[in-house]
Amino acid sequence: MENNGKRIVVVTGGSRGIGRAICLSFTNPDTMIYFNYFSPADPEGEKTHANETERLIRNAGGASQSASVNVMSEAEVKDFFDRIISESRRIDVLVNNAGITKDKLLIRMTEKDWDDVLDINLKGTFHCTRFAVRAMINQRYGRIINIASIVGVIGNAGQANYVASKAGIIGLTKATAKEFALRGITVNAIAPGFIETDMTALLPEKIKEAMLSQIPLGRPGKPEDVAGVVAFLASGQADYITGQVIHVSGGMYI
Ligand code: NAP
Repeated sequence: MENNGKRIVVVTGGSRGIGRAICLSFTNPDTMIYFNYFSPADPEGEKTHANETERLIRNAGGASQSASVNVMSEAEVKDFFDRIISESRRIDVLVNNAGITKDKLLIRMTEKDWDDVLDINLKGTFHCTRFAVRAMINQRYGRIINIASIVGVIGNAGQANYVASKAGIIGLTKATAKEFALRGITVNAIAPGFIETDMTALLPEKIKEAMLSQIPLGRPGKPEDVAGVVAFLASGQADYITGQVIHVSGGMYI
C-alpha cells in the first residue's frame, strides 16, 4: 500500500470546508497529500485558502502539495495526475470532493448554470477517477470516495442542476464499484446533509432554520463529521464495503 514509506492521498477541492477537513483527517507522517482547488492566486501571488490548508497539514506533522486545477478540464486533470504518478508512482486514495452550487428554480436556470454545475461536480469526478484509477489498477489497490449529497437521494427544489449532479455521482459510484471491484479497488459515496462551510454560509437565515428543523440530531454538521467517515472508508476497517452511499446528515434522511 505504500511507496517510499508514504501513503498517497489525493483530495479535490482541498483548500476549504469539507475538503480541508478531509486533508487534515489523513494527515500523519506516513502520508503524502496532494490536493487541488480552483481559485487562481491573488494579485500578490498568494493562494490564500490553499496555503492555509498546507500550513495546517504541516503543523500537524504531515506533508502536502497543492495545485490550482479546474476539475472540469480534462487537460488540467490529466496533467495533475501525471505529475502525481511520475513523482509518487502510485495513488492509494482519491477523494472526489470539489463541488459548486448555482441554485435557481428550473424555470430560471440557464444552460450555463446547468453546465457549470454538471461539469464541475459530475464530469470532474469522472475525469479524476479516470486518471487516478490507472495507477490503482496497476497496483491492484485503491480507495475512491465520492462526496455526493443528501439531495442527490431525496431531491430539492431550486437545485435541479446540483441534485442531478449528485444523483449522477451516486450512479457513477455504483457503476465504478462494480467495474473495479476485482482490481482491489473500492468506490463509495458519502451523502452529507447540512454542513457548515462557505457553501452553506450564504444561504438565507430562513432556509437555514428550515433545514435545522429537519435534523433529528438537532445541529448542523461540521466538516470533520464528513472527514471522519472518509477516513474510515479509506481505512482497512472498510475493506469489505463498496458501492455504498453513507449518509452523514444527523438523521435528515432515515
Ligand atoms: P466549499 O467550502 O465551497 O469548498 C469547495 C471546494 O471545491 C473548494 O476547495 C474550491 O476551491 C473547490 N472547487 C470549486 N470548484 C472547483 C473546480 N472547478 N476545480 C477544482 N476545485 C474546485 O464547499 P464544501 O461545503 O466544503 O463542499 C465540499 C463538497 O461537499 C462539495 O462537493 C459539496 O457539493 C459537498 N456537499 C456539501 C454540503 C454542505 O452542506 N456544505 C452538503 C452536501 C454535500 P477554491 O477554494 O479555489 O474555490
